[in-house]
Amino acid sequence: MSCFIWALIIIIVIALLSACWPLFAVLAILFAIWKIYEMTYYKSDKFLNMKLRIDTYIQECNDLNQHIESLKDTSIIAGRVDYGDASYKDASKWNYKREHLQNQKYAPNVYNCSRTVCDNAKKKPFEYICKYFGIKADEDTLVKFENILNNFEAAEDGKNHLRDEKNKILASIQMEIPFLIQKLSKKKLEQKLGFEEIDMSTAYFPRYIFKYVSSGGNASTQCDVVMDIDNLNRFVLFLSEKIKFNKSVAGQRALMTSKLRQHIKERDGFTCKICGASIQQEPNLLLEIDHIIPISKGGMTTEENLQTLCWRCNRSKGAKI
Ligand SMILES: [Zn+2]
Repeated sequence: MSCFIWALIIIIVIALLSACWPLFAVLAILFAIWKIYEMTYYKSDKFLNMKLRIDTYIQECNDLNQHIESLKDTSIIAGRVDYGDASYKDASKWNYKREHLQNQKYAPNVYNCSRTVCDNAKKKPFEYICKYFGIKADEDTLVKFENILNNFEAAEDGKNHLRDEKNKILASIQMEIPFLIQKLSKKKLEQKLGFEEIDMSTAYFPRYIFKYVSSGGNASTQCDVVMDIDNLNRFVLFLSEKIKFNKSVAGQRALMTSKLRQHIKERDGFTCKICGASIQQEPNLLLEIDHIIPISKGGMTTEENLQTLCWRCNRSKGAKI
């Protein structure tokens, strides 16, 4: 019976193909014509001249893109103790498949734990991250997480500014680009103009995983804590409450949160303190918060030691220090 059905399906498909082959042929020819047109356009003087004319803007976008990528690389504290490597051999007589243990790779942000720990971590994620990933609630840790938050928030801001700026550049040349290229070749157009791809994912945020797998490997549960901007802000507050500040410091110490970043930008009138560039002139300008005396040289997170800089000045300041 099933053989008969298959034969019937094959006969119908063949009949359809032979009935419609002129349609397929026409489609194939149209596709080939389109590809030749597209290729010719990207090699034409008209396109190349336009590309040359806006090249400075595109390069600036790509510079910002690279800067954002480097902001994302801010080191994450892998606080867990490295106990070394040991091979695991399951010598049990029982036919349990403990693949999760055999395939275990070194992953600093995964903690294999009991079901209770996993369940409790869901209720009090910050407490459990500190406890099981060896993150000490002290001034040093707080500074590191504030730095991560500061850089990651600049990276997230930067991505949006960059996307807007790219769209602005594309809009400025829209009238010169043929309709079909605009509609059917959007991605290739950006590539051919020289835009580097903007990575809009948030995969770089630190992720802490509590994982429980039963000894038989059949039951498992997992608690993921992603340190996104919101959680980083809350974690900074959480750490600061755990730390008993030195009295002389407590008066001036501010917490480097999103709120403070916004406050400093407003105080400085959304203007770079070095070159004077502002969002009035450049609406998509990425502004960052900088420690005037760097933390590495004893600078503190106090309002007096913070200033607004544009990403270009901040980057060249960073290169000098
Ligand atoms: Zn500047």
